[in-house]
Amino acid sequence: MTAEGHLLFSVASLILAHQLEITPEIAQGDWLHMLPGVLLASLLPDIDHPSSTLGRLFRFISIPIAKLCGHRGFTHSLLALIVGIILFQTEIPSDWPIPTDFVHAMIVGYISHLIADMLTPAGIPLLWPLRTRFCIPVLRGKERKKAERFIAVLVVVIAILLPQHISSSLTHYFDKLPFDKLQIDKLQNLYK
Ligand SMILES: [Zn+2]
Repeated sequence: MTAEGHLLFSVASLILAHQLEITPEIAQGDWLHMLPGVLLASLLPDIDHPSSTLGRLFRFISIPIAKLCGHRGFTHSLLALIVGIILFQTEIPSDWPIPTDFVHAMIVGYISHLIADMLTPAGIPLLWPLRTRFCIPVLRGKERKKAERFIAVLVVVIAILLPQHISSSLTHYFDKLPFDKLQIDKLQNLYK
């Protein structure tokens, strides 16, 4: 996937994560923290390629990683995600002014990159060092760039529509349940 595709898909994923309230930090986070976090992390896995956007900026990191693991190797695995989270928790001093909503958005951005690359025919070695590649190859052919944009827009549309539908149907469902506060209190008294 192109860098533009990753950036778009990461913002769409953040909007979805925010609507689904996957963590309190994402649900109530400051967009001025979350947007830089998600955008940065959405390009991070491709640091393993010296001609990628971040790879060109940090060649001293990208060249050794490319030689050691190759493109779409370690950095495109669940192991990298877990190691990254652990390093962040253990190596960053607690008094550093890094907001938690920024860190949570970074995790969303990193995962969005892995999912986006899984949509290409090359896939990714999710369980690296195992070589098995996982892919759902919907992004192929000449119209790939258009398809990338379409998927990002689709995720935003789902984010806006789906959670509202789910929450309204859940509210409707709970409203119809044959319990009221009095009955619940009676039941609790019975089992005291
Ligand atoms: Zn990638």
